[in-house]
Amino acid sequence: MKKIEGLAGAAGQALYRALVLKREAVELVEGTVADPEEEIARFEEIRGKYAEELDQLAQKSADGHGQEAAAIMRAYAVIARDDFFFQKPIKRVRADGISMAYAVEEACQKVCRKFEGMDDPYMKERAVDIRNVCTELIRRLQGVSSTLEIQGDDPVILVAEDLTPEDTIRVDKKKLGGFITQRGGVTSHAVILAKTLGIPAVVGCGEVMTAVESGQKLYLNGSEGWAIVEPDAETEARFRDAHKKQLQLDGLYRHAASQPSVTKDGHQIMVCVNSGDKDSVNGLDATKCDGVGLFRTEFLFMDQTDYPSEQLQYEAYRQVAEAAQGKEIIIRTLDIGGDKQLDYMSLPQEFNPFLGYRAIRLCLDRKEMFLTQLRAILRASAHGKLKIMFPMIVTVEELRQAKALVQQAAQELDQEGVAHAPHVPVGIMIETPAAVLLSDQLAKEAEFFSIGTNDLIQYTAATDRQNERVQYLYTPCNLSVLRAIATVIENGHREGIPVGMCGEAASDPRLGLLLLGLGLDEFSVVPAQVGKVKYMVQHADYGQLAAKVKKLWEFATIEELEAWLASWQEEAGEQL
Ligand code: PEP
Ligand code: MG
Repeated sequence: MKKIEGLAGAAGQALYRALVLKREAVELVEGTVADPEEEIARFEEIRGKYAEELDQLAQKSADGHGQEAAAIMRAYAVIARDDFFFQKPIKRVRADGISMAYAVEEACQKVCRKFEGMDDPYMKERAVDIRNVCTELIRRLQGVSSTLEIQGDDPVILVAEDLTPEDTIRVDKKKLGGFITQRGGVTSHAVILAKTLGIPAVVGCGEVMTAVESGQKLYLNGSEGWAIVEPDAETEARFRDAHKKQLQLDGLYRHAASQPSVTKDGHQIMVCVNSGDKDSVNGLDATKCDGVGLFRTEFLFMDQTDYPSEQLQYEAYRQVAEAAQGKEIIIRTLDIGGDKQLDYMSLPQEFNPFLGYRAIRLCLDRKEMFLTQLRAILRASAHGKLKIMFPMIVTVEELRQAKALVQQAAQELDQEGVAHAPHVPVGIMIETPAAVLLSDQLAKEAEFFSIGTNDLIQYTAATDRQNERVQYLYTPCNLSVLRAIATVIENGHREGIPVGMCGEAASDPRLGLLLLGLGLDEFSVVPAQVGKVKYMVQHADYGQLAAKVKKLWEFATIEELEAWLASWQEEAGEQL
């Protein structure tokens, strides 16, 4: 029995046999080839076929589990088809008669070194993409298999150095019981996939590749970030108990999902879902939530080669409005920029994209594009209870300008005789310290707030949400973040507007009761978490919590706070 420590990637526990994904090392020798032209022709055939496969994978993931994965596959296909890049190794093979694999590796190293030397994390990421595409081409040239085929019918826990986005799409999800990877952070592609599939994942484990062999039993705990190789009978029994309990809890949460979100003492809360791709729109079950608390509109723009038309957007918003069956839907206007880039928008290269030209800043600058989106949302408001929400607001001026454009869009529609709801509430995301500090003023002009903790944590704690090294600071239990949340709720309520939360912290089990006690009106979470959050609401005493949270202001450290929150959970019982 051996314990491996790592980072908690995706929650849950699993016990299956391990499948170690050992990629055969490809040995590269410069060598000489008998017929350089034949070598080049073989490469071109392999490259063409690979690019086509990537197109198919992009299609598969667009239909299946995510636009983000589809966008990555499309980017890989662009790299694979980049004649400018590949003409250099081809020329080298033609001139020197060396192996194509060697020439590709050489070209790859050169360009990756250049990209990796740049400060911009976006450009650094591009180096990873080029490396992944070139490695796959080299494998194919050498006839080395890179399939992720899982033999047999039983699920396995995949053990890998890291998983590329391509791996996560190719792998047979039905046989996947969990992941454990040597590298990668808690926002890696493997983790995103694991969360979507509802399976546990542990990442960043150091030497896991040498600690486990295929076929060994592996007990994975994704909630706490560890795994045990070949657990003894006692540990295995512990897992079976935990698993049985989890199944019982799942049953409780399923039932809770179909019940009203009301606390024991009769306080009404909203438990809504976040939605942001075709799947979640198609799968929206309005009977199991109180509405859509965050409808991310980026997918409509990411799935295109040009700006989506008003009609296309209108149809998408109308579809979600109708699926919500009279419940409210908060449509967030375009939040592009930062880590989300679109070729056709020709966005500038920036040193600090997260502090740059993104979200509402870009929309207020590209008014025509923004008006098109606002007109589409207003038109769809004739078919359901829509609200409009602006991302990344940092000044009152931005809110006023954005609201003026909503008014302009409504006037245009009126002049054209096009139907829309007489009043569509307009609110904002609170995801910057600036918005927190101005929330007293913003609350006078916004009709609701929704706290976006994913960004709020990174801007408050000056901690990149994607940087593995500083993940210990990227926590909602950071007291500065909790104070920010408390301030926003208080300022919102003083002006009589509801305050929700649509960042990941809304489903953090450590925080649920605290957020309720602070007065949060709406929790917006991924559909898989709705039942659990509703269960927490249904079993809480709102009045008591409100008195209890006052102590929050007495703590100085994250550690003290975490211990306090853990004691709440202990008191409340494991279901919460
Ligand atoms: C957030 O920042 O919390 C949020 C919900 O927005 P996104 O994750 O889309 O940036
Ligand atoms: Mg955000």
